[in-house]
Parts: sequence; structure tokens; C-alpha cells
Amino acid sequence: FPKHYNLKHKVKKYFPENIIDIFLQLGNTAKKLNMKIYLVGGIVRDIILGRKNLDIDILVEGDAIKLAYEFAKENGFVFHKFEEFMTAQIKTKDNIKLDFATARKEIYEYPGAYPKVEKATLREDLFRRDFTINTLAIDITEENFGILLDYFYGYQDIRNKKIRVLHELSFIEDPIRIFRALRFAGRFGFKLGSHTEKLLKVAIQQNFIKVAPEGRINLELNLTFNEENVIEILFLMDEYKLLNHLIKYFVLNDFRKKVLEKIRDNILYFELIFNKKADKSIIYLLGLLYHLPLEIATEFLEKYYFEKAFKSFEEFYYLKDKINENLKNSEIYEYIKGITLETKIFLISYLPENLSKRILDILNKEKEKFITGKDLISLGLKPSPKFSKIQTEIFKKYLDNEIKDKKQALEYIKQKFL
Ligand code: ATP
Repeated sequence: FPKHYNLKHKVKKYFPENIIDIFLQLGNTAKKLNMKIYLVGGIVRDIILGRKNLDIDILVEGDAIKLAYEFAKENGFVFHKFEEFMTAQIKTKDNIKLDFATARKEIYEYPGAYPKVEKATLREDLFRRDFTINTLAIDITEENFGILLDYFYGYQDIRNKKIRVLHELSFIEDPIRIFRALRFAGRFGFKLGSHTEKLLKVAIQQNFIKVAPEGRINLELNLTFNEENVIEILFLMDEYKLLNHLIKYFVLNDFRKKVLEKIRDNILYFELIFNKKADKSIIYLLGLLYHLPLEIATEFLEKYYFEKAFKSFEEFYYLKDKINENLKNSEIYEYIKGITLETKIFLISYLPENLSKRILDILNKEKEKFITGKDLISLGLKPSPKFSKIQTEIFKKYLDNEIKDKKQALEYIKQKFL
């Protein structure tokens, strides 16, 4: 039997009223169809932690497709079904998305076989999941509204900040859980339970990730790079030697750790100051791989389907020894003006402080738009492709302090181009 806790108040505080109403109506439809419904997984964990989560997953003891269909029909909501997964999705008029899944278990006819999916009870469905913190369910039918059902001590684990697997073979059954364990640990500041930690270390040491599909590893890494606590997670992945197993010749020393931290700060800085959103994965991949020869880095990118990072890697490997103290600002500008945003952010994170500052200064000046097309027209020049040449020439002189302000710039243009 599961442990019960009453979380009615917490649930009511967590969701806006229109969503609570939907849950209650849904409960009525479920009752009519003789089915039971629960909130499950990440959303329950996050209700307990008081963290925002927009993914509402509803588990149905019965038939998710039938329930979602009836409910959508009653209310005129958009409905989609996915027969082979026994799942459905609806979108309400307020654009609230709800995902429905039929409680199921997976049956393996022989080791390594594709699992057969069969309808099951709530408990059986929860038992397939990765960690105890993700096995909680909250009843949302009217009479039991807000009752938390806890079969595997997940509530206690959330309170004790522990990540625990449900059984000995969990990491063997699905090695992607190694990544997920460290991602949750880093995200929430949780520790691995001591037995789970042992199992995870063995799984990494025995290189179980070798059998995980590269596409799923790609997905996990992308998710990691987009986590707020990405640095904590990457450091955990390093501490448990997961990165060593993933990347040939990988070593994370103190300098490289600093680079990763600077990447995080610079991504934020670029969002704030330049209003530019970069592809975080590409920059963190640079941060992890830049110390390796380009062939090794490229091999990794190819293996894990990160072709989108190729361009930035080529740019960085080309530039890394070229940008140095002895260059004039205009020469640095010449090197960086055409490169991707991701390479720029990485360079600023990797280069020594004084050079990074100079690059940031250049970019800030570039943003100012020192001399515009309008300025040239107001001087009497006719719009032509020559404009951008003139603008670049003036801008470079401005960067090198040969032209100090706009007045001088306009004077210079008059003399040289009119
Ligand atoms: P997030 O906040 O990252 O979305 P989540 O817990 O909602 O976290 P999902 O990846 O959306 O995670 O997965 C939904 C649920 O499916 C999880 O709560 C988990 O119980 C289960 N799950 C996901 N991946 C696995 C896996 N590899 N093995 C077992 N269960 C899994």
C-alpha cells in the first residue's frame, strides 16, 4: 500500500484557478467512465519543491485516449491521440496543454527484446520510472483531490534531497539514467543515495553508456547545456568520470573549469546587454572540447550528431592563436566581425581578461552604430554599395582611436569621400 499525504492546499496554491477547474471537471469525466486519474512524475516533484513546471502529465488507470477524447468533446478542446503509445494530448481554449498516458507496464519477452506495452495499475506504471523522486502521484478526482500517493518513499527522498533508483538493475536497463541522475542532482542540489551512487559508479566504470543510442545522448547533453545549473551538472559529470567515458583524452583542469563558468556568465551578459540568444550547446561543447585536437573534437561532434557546432569549432581553432595582445583593435575586429555569436561568446570566455575586455569594448562600439547610412546621406553622398566600405573604414579608425568622435568622423568623410 502507498503512503498517503494530504497536499490539497499545496496543489491549490500551485495552479491557477482555471487549471484546478479543469482537473475537477476531468475528474467527473473520469468517474463517468469508471477510470482514475492522477498527476504524475516531474510535475508532482516540482509541486512539492515549489518549482515552476508547465508540463502537466496525467496518468489514467483505464484508457487515456478514451478519457481525453470524451473530455475534449464535452468542452470543444483540441485533441490528438497517439495510439501506439496509448497517450493523448489536449489543448484547452486558454491554450493549456495536458498530456494523458494510460498506466502501463513493459514486458520483455527475452533480454534485449523490444518491450511489449500492456495496460497496468498506477503502481506498476510508477515502478518503471527512473528515480523515486519521479514516482509520486497526486489524485485529482474531486473526493480525493490533492492526496499524494507514495509507493517508493519518494516524498521522503525529496525532503532528504536524495536521488535513488528503484532497483539494482536500473542503470543497466537504461544507461541514459546515469545522465538523468546527475542532471537532477545538479539541478536541485540533491545528492545520490549511497547505494545508488555505488551502482552509478559501477555503471560508468563498466562503460554501460556504450550501448545507449547516440541520439539519446545528444538529447541529454542538449538538456544539460540548457539547465540553469549547467556548471554544477558538468562538474558532477566530471567528478563521476562520465565525461572521460564520453570524450577521448578529456581532462577538466582548474583553468578549463573557470572557462566553463565564464561561458555561463557571458551567455547571460549577451542576453542582457546585446539582447542576443546564443545556442548554449555549441558554446559549452567548445568549452569541453577546445583543449583537444580538432580531429578528436570533430569525431565527437559527428558521433553525437552535433554538426550544428562545426562552424564555430572551425572558427575558433582558426582564430585561437591569431588573436593576441599585439594586434590593433581594428585588426581584432577584422578577425571577429564575421564569426558566429557562439564563437564570440566562447572567445571572450577563453581569452585572457584584457583581450576579452577589448573584444567586448569593440562589440559595444559596434552596437552603437557609430556612422549610419543616414549620416552619409546627410553629408551629400548618394546611397551605394560603397557605403558599408566607408562605414567600416571609419569604424576601424574609431576603434584605433585615430578618430575620436562623430564630429571628427564626419570631417574625415567630407575630406576623403566628397
Ligand atoms: P523535467 O523537469 O526535466 O521535464 P521530468 O521528470 O518531467 O523532468 P521527463 O524527461 O519529462 O522528466 O520525463 C517524464 C517522466 O518520465 C519522469 O518523471 C520519469 O519518471 C520518467 N522517465 C523519463 N525518462 C526516463 C527513463 N530513462 N527511465 C525511466 N523513467 C523515465
